Amino acid sequence: MSNYRRTEIIITLLVIIALAFFAIPRFIKAQRVAKETACHENLVSIGHAIEVYQLAGDESLPASLEDVYGVGKAEASLPVCPLKGSYRLENGNVICDHE
Ligand SMILES: [Zn+2]
Repeated sequence: MSNYRRTEIIITLLVIIALAFFAIPRFIKAQRVAKETACHENLVSIGHAIEVYQLAGDESLPASLEDVYGVGKAEASLPVCPLKGSYRLENGNVICDHE
């Protein structure tokens, strides 16, 4: 292998490493933002399911999310947080404990 060819390969590898150095953290951050957005949309969806629960019943708040998503209740199942958190009802608000 000629010196020119060897230098060309080394420069190519350095460029690839430099691109990865800058791209990987951005990719990880973008993934995190997407998951946080999905979690927020789940919270909105759960809020709508609670409104339907209230309209179908006596308009009181459910004691827990299992009351809303239990068997024979909402058509969908309780959404799962993409950040491995869990949703719970606290003082009438739905919160997620991810992070
Ligand atoms: Zn979450």
